[in-house]
Amino acid sequence: MPALTDMPRREALIGGEWVATGETLAVEAPARGETITRIARGQAEEIDEAVKAAGDAFAGRLGNWSDWSARRRSEWLLDFAATIEADHERLAALECIDTGKPLTQARGDITACARYFRFYGGAADKLHGETLPFENDFAVMTWREPFGVCAQIIPWNYPAQIFGRCVAAALAAGNTVVLKPAEEACLSVLRLAELAVQADLPAGVLNVVPGLGREAGAALAAHPRIDHLSFTGSPETGTLVTQAAAVHHVPVTLELGGKSPQVVFADADLDLALESVVRGIIQNAGQTCSAGSRLLVQREVAEPLLARLVERFSALRCDAGEADADCGSLISARQKTGLEARLEAARADGIRVLAQGRLAESAPAGGHFVVPQILTDIPAGHEVVREELFGPVLTVQCFEDEAEALALANATDFGLCTGIWTRDGGRQLRLAKGIRSGQVFVNNYGAAGGIELPFGGVGRSGHGREKGFEGLRSYTRLKTLAIRHG
Ligand code: NAD
Repeated sequence: MPALTDMPRREALIGGEWVATGETLAVEAPARGETITRIARGQAEEIDEAVKAAGDAFAGRLGNWSDWSARRRSEWLLDFAATIEADHERLAALECIDTGKPLTQARGDITACARYFRFYGGAADKLHGETLPFENDFAVMTWREPFGVCAQIIPWNYPAQIFGRCVAAALAAGNTVVLKPAEEACLSVLRLAELAVQADLPAGVLNVVPGLGREAGAALAAHPRIDHLSFTGSPETGTLVTQAAAVHHVPVTLELGGKSPQVVFADADLDLALESVVRGIIQNAGQTCSAGSRLLVQREVAEPLLARLVERFSALRCDAGEADADCGSLISARQKTGLEARLEAARADGIRVLAQGRLAESAPAGGHFVVPQILTDIPAGHEVVREELFGPVLTVQCFEDEAEALALANATDFGLCTGIWTRDGGRQLRLAKGIRSGQVFVNNYGAAGGIELPFGGVGRSGHGREKGFEGLRSYTRLKTLAIRHG
């Protein structure tokens, strides 16, 4: 684990300079409940400076970013992927201690972060418009242009991965960025920013202002000089930032989480489904927007599948991230208290805990741990099967047939991901068409993060797409050029 001296710069990065703020915020290691360092507490003033620097960099008044060709941006992004890979273990250690997630998962997150830079580096010089058939005396084409200043507000559950997803795509398209990481976890983001400065990214192209959501976050979303806003977090805050951005007609991409089902039919490969169901809910202690938090199982295989799930969950252990157990801690005392209150209310409503994991003996006493658990006997439409719990809690509901499976899968306002487990090809396609969600996985779940695959929601899960080529396009706007040549 990193010593305190290995911590990244704690100030805000504005216009290529590290700027100290008047006040600072404590950074807690959630698996220990101990403060490990302090970071800047950016306010509206720092946000304003950062937006100005990003605007100047985009317009060519600061640095030489506006001279960089797509090919040069591509080369920088590819080199930066290698820089991240060279710093992999330090970044992974920071992510592990800052979020409380198991070290193996933190390592996977840094690998994914580097892959975003590699993917968007490879794509930067392949982003093109179209020529369009029109009247014979016209030549018509579309250009994909960067927006300008992209504001990015990101959460604490996957700081490095979401940094990669948003920053790499925005820069590849030629934008500049002001990023507000989450107050609960942003050490890997500050380290990545430090590496970007060392890698000679022109001043003002990437600005990072840590701070509280209601201060720095709100100021960024409401800033009149941003050109695009990308937000990942809760639906409630998503509404607030959308309202703020709407005042200046700023386009918004929202990624707001989910209540994603894994639908297991009797003809499925139960061995494969079992492992995927377990992994889909305990990863990052269930604090994943795309967590497979609802198991829907066909009644005729419910008993054997649940028996095996009980066995697996009973063997799961929670411990500090560096112990690399099955499950880490939750991010904060607030998340833990909130989740425990909802679980208590669920039990009072007659919902039963079918099985649960345990805290490892070595788990630190002050850590914000909630053990993985399976809930059954759930009244129809209960909150636990409609609302995001954001913890390692799997709900189980049984269905009789395909129609009931589809109705249950769609019985939430969220719509991010769905897993369908069946060998019946017709059923795979019927359900994939009928389900309201941005991603559908058949006989797998999550496609190992799939940075190449467009990702985003329906309904309360948000709108717009990140990841893949579609994510790159969403950091551009289209201009149409019609030339009458006679
Ligand atoms: P949040 O939405 O409040 O925070 C996400 C980001 O938004 C953070 O950077 C935060 O500082 C910022 N923010 C907060 N208030 C803001 C405001 N008024 N204006 C601008 N930015 C603001 O989420 P949270 O409070 O950390 O967690 C609450 C719940 O949100 C969780 O229990 C979970 O259900 C959900 N969540 C979802 C995701 C996801 O990946 N979709 C991530 C984190 C949290």
